[in-house]
Formats: sequence, structure tokens, C-alpha cells
Amino acid sequence: MISFERVTKRYPDGTVAVSSLSLEAPDGAITVLVGPSGCGKTTSLRMVNRLIEPTEGRILVNGVDARQQPAAELRRGIGYVIQQAGLFPHRTIVDNIATVPRLLGQSRSAARNRAFELMELVGLDKALAKRYPHQLSGGQQQRVGVARALAADPPVLLMDEPFSAVDPIVRKGLQEEFLRIQAAVAKTILFVTHDIDEAVKLGDKIAVLRQGGILAQFDTPDRLLAEPADEFVEQFLGTDRGIKRLTFYTANGLNLLGGPVVAADTEPAAAREAALSGGFPWLLVVDEQRRPLGWTNPEALSGSQPVGKTRLVSFGHVFRADTDSLRAALDSAVLSPTGWAVGVDAEGGVIGVVSQETIADAIRAAHATQAHVDVAVGDVEGEPAAEDAGPEDRSLEQAR
Ligand code: ADP
Ligand code: MG
Repeated sequence: MISFERVTKRYPDGTVAVSSLSLEAPDGAITVLVGPSGCGKTTSLRMVNRLIEPTEGRILVNGVDARQQPAAELRRGIGYVIQQAGLFPHRTIVDNIATVPRLLGQSRSAARNRAFELMELVGLDKALAKRYPHQLSGGQQQRVGVARALAADPPVLLMDEPFSAVDPIVRKGLQEEFLRIQAAVAKTILFVTHDIDEAVKLGDKIAVLRQGGILAQFDTPDRLLAEPADEFVEQFLGTDRGIKRLTFYTANGLNLLGGPVVAADTEPAAAREAALSGGFPWLLVVDEQRRPLGWTNPEALSGSQPVGKTRLVSFGHVFRADTDSLRAALDSAVLSPTGWAVGVDAEGGVIGVVSQETIADAIRAAHATQAHVDVAVGDVEGEPAAEDAGPEDRSLEQAR
């Protein structure tokens, strides 16, 4: 655990970068520090590994005051990843990664073997080992930065905007890989970003900072989105925070209808009959592997051509019924020309379709369940339940 206890940093010119910051970053979790540029994120991070010393207060790393340990010893247990990867330009990739294990006294071959293991972990091709940093893309360099930080297997990782300098598509890939790696290594991570979407995606806990290094709110992403502490946090979260929050609700409880799904070789009369008896305004046509081909309007079907041979309306994009969130399901429904979302399995086969109305019902149910859980948590912590239920009810109203 990393604990900030009323930490203040005042630079010699009088700038107060961090003001009496108190928070606890739990073990094995990702704690994100997020806020606008200049709000003291980097300063906060660099006080943990003592690249900057606090003016007041103290920081405990696993219960020990950072200042009570020699800086070199402290840093051995803390990996550090920065925006431009900070690689040694004149060392090969494998030597960059092997640097810390070598410093820790490992033999050359052991350090290299470890470096190759880490390259595989972060998704870097072995063929890149002999290259120099400038011969890699920005995304690959960031992977090297992460591998190098993990090389000594430190319990704590500090990451300062590690993915900010790469383009959005590469960033998304790095974020997903990072979550996959963290699921395997379970480090205690302090992660700095100015991007609220990145914070919500990666953080187990999120600390929102405002100008002057003042902590505005410290919460789980779901709680943050449900109940911003003040107007600053609300504005920082953006106007679509209700939609963002749906990321935390699974789509796997949605009631998918198989009735409106018909095979491509279905005769038009049979398709019309199926639509009529089920009361379905649209039918989704699928191939032999149950992959979606498109929608057909049963009322417009005529002649003897099987439905697969008729003109179909695009089905937009699908969602994974087992692993995606309600946000993905809603997005699929909103983008669908029929207002129905298409749920598929891992192989891309259609499980069934679901209407916007059904998804809206599921959202209301999820919010109601969440309100219930929050009240229960409040009880355990000895807070009056009624106080907790109030704001949650309000957010429920907003969602409607
Ligand atoms: P962030 O990482 O959130 O963008 P920083 O921690 O880098 O913010 O900076 C916080 C504030 O401290 C800013 O106002 C910045 O200008 C100021 N600052 C940072 N480093 C120094 C320094 N060495 N001397 C004086 N002021 C500094
Ligand atoms: Mg910074």
C-alpha cells in the first residue's frame, strides 16, 4: 500500500504543487491520479520514489516512511514508467530491459533471459531485441518501458502518462494489454493521466485532483460517475458520464430474443408468418454459422426468393452477449437502423436480438441494484443508510 499523509509540496519559487494530499493506494490495484495539466500529478508521483521531496507530510510505502530508507534502496522496489518511455538510446532493446536486473547483480545471461520473458509478456516480438529504441514505433517503445519497469519484479509501479504520446488506436491496445498484464502480476500501481476515459478504463480507484494539488474526490470509477463530489468533478467527467457508467454493468443478463432470427434459406411466406406470430417488426437474417447478414422487413417480403437473397438492411455492429457491457449493447442498439441490438457469442454467431426498450429496462434495474449495494456498504461502514440512498435515488432519476 502507498499512503499519502497530508503531503504538501511547495517549490522554491512559492508554487504550491500539492496541498495536504491524503490518500491510500491499495495493494495489487491500479490507483489513478487524474486532473487537468498542472494540478500536481507528476509532483505527487515523484514524491513516492523521492525524485522530489515533500515539504510537509509523509508518504508510506508498504508501511515504511519513504524518507526513512536510502533512496536507492527505496527505488529498487519501485518501477517507474514515463511518457517518452525514457529508454537508453544507445542500448539495444534487450539491454534496456536487462539493465535493472544487471544492476541488481544478476548474471548477464540470467538478465537477458529475464528480458526475453518480459518482451513476451508485454507483446514484443523477439526479433526486436537487437534493435535500438529509435528503430521502434512509439507504441513499441512504451511496451519496452513497461517491460523495463517490471524487470526487477518490484511490488510497486509508478506510471506517468505512459500512453499519452501514442495515437488513439495504439493507446487502446496498450491499455488492454496493460490490464491483461496487471491481472497476471497484480502490482500496486499509481498511474497518472489527464484523460478521464483512460482513468475510468484502468482505475480500480480514481483520485481527481484540481489546480494546486487539491484532492477533489477519491472513489471507485462507478461511484465517481454516479456521484461527483462537486461541480469541478462533474465537469471534468464530461457530459456523458451516465453513458460511461454503463461500462460497469454487464450485458450478460439481457433477455435476447431468438424468435426474430431466421436462416438465409427461409421462404418468404414462412418468414412473414414467423414475424406476424411473434409480433416482430424486423427479422435478422443469419448464415449457416449463424453469423448476421442483415435485417429484413417482413412486410416487404414477396415472391419466392429465400430471405437471404432479398435486399437486407445493414445490422450495424454487434455486441458480445457474454463479455460486453450494457454500454456496448446500448451502442449497438442506437447504431442499428432497426433500434434492435444484435448479441453474438465468441465465434460471432448470433445468440439473439434485443430492443432499445429492453436495454433501457436493464439499465434501470442495474441502477436500482447498485443503489441497493451502495446502501448495504454504507451500513457496514456504520453510515446511516438513508443518507446514502438519497443521492443514489437522484442519480437514478437523472438516468431516466
Ligand atoms: P501535472 O503533472 O499535473 O501536469 P506537475 O506536478 O508537473 O503537474 O506541476 C504542478 C505545478 O507545479 C504546476 O503549476 C507546475 O508549473 C509547478 N512546478 C512543477 N515543477 C516545478 C518546479 N521544479 N519548480 C516550480 N514549479 C514547478
Ligand atoms: Mg505531469
